[in-house]
Amino acid sequence: MISGFRVKNIKRFDEFQMTGFILEHEKTGAKYFHIDSSDMNNTFAIHFCTPAFDNTGVFHILEHLSLCGSKKYPVRDPFMNMMKRSLNSYMNAWTGPDYTMYPFAAQNIKDYQNLRDVYLDATYNPNLDYKDYLQEGWRYEFLEPSNRKSGLLYKGIVLNEMKGDMARQDSYFLHKLQSNLFVNSVYNFNSGGDPRFIPTLKYENLVETHKKFYHPSNSKFFSYGDMNFLENLEFLEENLLSKLDGSNLKGRRFYVPNSIRLEEPKEVIDFYQTELGIGSEADNLAKMAIAYLCDDINQNPYETFKLSILSHLLMEGPNSIMFKRLIESGLAPGYCHGYGLDTSLKEATMTFGVQNIENDYRKFKEVEDAIMNGLKEVSERGFDYKLIEEVLHLIEYDSKKPKDDFGINLLNQSTGFITHSDYPFPMLHMNDFSYKLKKELKENGQLFQDMIKKYFLSNTHRIKLILRPKLDLISNLNNEEFQSLSRIDDRLTDIEVNKIIQDTESLVKHQSQIQSIDILPCLGLEDIPTSIEPVQFEKLNLVHDIPLSFFDQPTNGLSFIRIKANIKEIPEDLKEYIPLYNMLLPRLGTKDHSYEEFQNMLHTNSAGLSVSVDAFSDINDINKETENLVYEMSFLDNNMQKALQLYSQLLTVPNFFDLTNLNQIIKQESVKIANEIVNNSLDYAISYASAGLKSYKRTYSAFKSDMFICRLGSDLIQCASPRDILQATAEKLYLLHNLILRKTSLEFALNGTKKHLEGISVNLNLLINKIKNENEVFEREINTENTETSIFEEKYYKTIIKTPAQVYECVEVFKIPHYNHPDYAKCVIMSNLIGLSFLHKEIREKGGAYGSGVSPSDSGLCVFYSFRDPNAERTFNTFEKAIIYVRDGKFSEQDIKDAKIYTFSIVDKLINPGNKGLELFLRNLDEKSRNIFRNRLLTVNKEDIIEVCNKYLVPQLENGTTCRVVFGNVSNSGSGEMFDSSEWDFVDSLDFLSEKYFATNEEEEKQVS
Ligand SMILES: [Zn+2]
Repeated sequence: MISGFRVKNIKRFDEFQMTGFILEHEKTGAKYFHIDSSDMNNTFAIHFCTPAFDNTGVFHILEHLSLCGSKKYPVRDPFMNMMKRSLNSYMNAWTGPDYTMYPFAAQNIKDYQNLRDVYLDATYNPNLDYKDYLQEGWRYEFLEPSNRKSGLLYKGIVLNEMKGDMARQDSYFLHKLQSNLFVNSVYNFNSGGDPRFIPTLKYENLVETHKKFYHPSNSKFFSYGDMNFLENLEFLEENLLSKLDGSNLKGRRFYVPNSIRLEEPKEVIDFYQTELGIGSEADNLAKMAIAYLCDDINQNPYETFKLSILSHLLMEGPNSIMFKRLIESGLAPGYCHGYGLDTSLKEATMTFGVQNIENDYRKFKEVEDAIMNGLKEVSERGFDYKLIEEVLHLIEYDSKKPKDDFGINLLNQSTGFITHSDYPFPMLHMNDFSYKLKKELKENGQLFQDMIKKYFLSNTHRIKLILRPKLDLISNLNNEEFQSLSRIDDRLTDIEVNKIIQDTESLVKHQSQIQSIDILPCLGLEDIPTSIEPVQFEKLNLVHDIPLSFFDQPTNGLSFIRIKANIKEIPEDLKEYIPLYNMLLPRLGTKDHSYEEFQNMLHTNSAGLSVSVDAFSDINDINKETENLVYEMSFLDNNMQKALQLYSQLLTVPNFFDLTNLNQIIKQESVKIANEIVNNSLDYAISYASAGLKSYKRTYSAFKSDMFICRLGSDLIQCASPRDILQATAEKLYLLHNLILRKTSLEFALNGTKKHLEGISVNLNLLINKIKNENEVFEREINTENTETSIFEEKYYKTIIKTPAQVYECVEVFKIPHYNHPDYAKCVIMSNLIGLSFLHKEIREKGGAYGSGVSPSDSGLCVFYSFRDPNAERTFNTFEKAIIYVRDGKFSEQDIKDAKIYTFSIVDKLINPGNKGLELFLRNLDEKSRNIFRNRLLTVNKEDIIEVCNKYLVPQLENGTTCRVVFGNVSNSGSGEMFDSSEWDFVDSLDFLSEKYFATNEEEEKQVS
């Protein structure tokens, strides 16, 4: 017995050099899981089994309310406040359909203990204040709060959050799938809360639910890392478990029963709110899936593992049967959301499906036939062993790859096992499972064929789900809500009216109370180390004097190679193709191998290739800009020879001219991008606004790049014979590829161990010589004399980009100095201070936006932003007020300290061995500069902050030399006076995604981007 806990099981995981412990608390039956490792980033989590039992979202609202203050820490938003008092690497709370979990991770022990204390009190002793319930859950309010006749409304954060969720295609589709696939199950409910049912929840039910479910006997604790976990046990016993009394302390454990099995397949036809489509009318696009219920995930984790391999074999990559039958055949442009095996619920599910198909029964039949015939075909002929090898390699690679947040990652992947079993470690058995499978396959070559028969072909628990598009799904829901509210309004008694008015008043009072957060534990500035841990490296030379930086790192049997190529001198008309090049090159075949064959070999021996742009301003001169392309490669050291040979083939003789492959990839990716536009709006808004003030941001803006790919995809889909477009594109890419890989522009880096340095260097020399032989412009300097270097002209955008979302993303960008400038550190602290002390309160708490902040970057830009924001005009006014607030010095010393601690939690983010030294290799950011910057951050004072605000932000605001960009459904009139003004440009750039646009607006097509 240790602090009231008994050890039930100890398990050693040699490959990870970790040990797992399973303990049980004697008196309450609470479970404790610990994974002992040498990782200093210690993780802790409190878990409850909370299966949904209705559609009111009670567990979701409870999660919100737990984070609104507790007995020991009666502070309104302890979570947000701890963000600025802690150097944590992770803090969050997760609500799933059957569990609620509160995880965090931190490196500093004092910090860890502080957070543990706040988390424990938040979960077991929350205040559950009625006023917080009104704010977070739902409430009635009159349009004019004290005017009974002004009309009744519903308000509340979770209610609005779930209304927003209805519009998200991915979560809506998944919910429809799960709620129909399970029978008589907790998964039939919308655990986040269905907006129609949230207002049926009563406050008393919520309090009751907390008592019942947030009980130690229904709890599981999880810890991971290098700290002595016995101290955790002692802490739990002392602060929680020993304090309980009563006779039946074990009686409150909850379980999720298995679904009733269907004896006949079932068909479900439903609707979704359609949004944007590509190449066809949005209102004619349907989604469809065939889904199966498989086994209980805990019954046999090895079997679940095999199912995950099977899922991969059937669906991933160009060689899989579903890809060939559904995508390559042209039947659909992409898979549906959540396709493949899902092991996050009690029983595993397998989903095959597509989206953006024609809304037509004949089409649905074709898709169904393709799926069923595909399954039949592989159940008869089996899989090529090469494909199985590829998947097993992927598993081995993934398990060895160094990760930044191993504890949190593991927790995330293990929620199903933690919730439904007393053995949470199956994810650490992956490699054993892999060996076992290889052995089993030798004895039974039919293994996967048998599984297809068992789990799919003869499994009667199958549903066919079809979601047809509807343009007015959400507006109908709004109408329903409006009508039901007016019925309620008609019947309100005087007593009820008074209660509504009083509740509103007391909530406003509650929200505007000034609160002291001193009671929360806090790290001191003395807890922050004053210098960084130096990264050792060696600079060597490869052939043709091409430099190699070697970072000797404990990379766990893997090597990471990066090639950096300067692309600044590439002609502008070719630069346009760089985003396409980055997306395509990793997926091509070569001169000697088809893309199917080559991609299989590449992924059986390496992690594949990734290519990205890295552009930035010089740390000493803001106007000196560098534009690089970075190729990243990595592999298990056992495969070094083979991996480097394959990389060498892809880099020297890639085949851009397989037009069928090109066509498919572009179409598929453009559909994916178009589906994600609303989700990516904030990134797009930032990239669009930054493009006004920075040359390289204009060249490589994420919005421009993605729209380029979408437009090309759209052209290909519209075009009767896309051959010419593809041929021209391939020629550009080929030209571009050769211009990038020129001798003078190349530099290499290696993260790995000394043992493999020589072998890798020899192979890299071979690679360089091969590039030289294949690339006729290898030695050429690009002649920049003739190409006019156009001088960059700043543009102060005031731009609105329309999307169908009902909320906005607002961005305003200012210029600040370069990294090594003494003012830069002051600007960083100022930015974080504005975000934490001003914007959060004004834009999130009072304004109702989901988030806001200010992010400074070493590229000399300072970005103010808000997202999922209901009021764009108010937000831009708030940005102005924030600057005046700082200029007038209205902030406190505590605000400065908070901003500093928060800043260091970002600056000191953990970097795994595979990425160590990158800032030096890619950005020339050396140890000396970084230490000077650290010390500047620590010494910033109030005068400094006011000074840089006056020097940089105030004049740009007064002169209107900032960029303001809004993404959202702003109409030309009626969205506030600010946008009526003629200085704002409306860009309907997204309209080209629907067919209608092409018919009517041919000539405007080129205007955007
Ligand atoms: Zn929420």
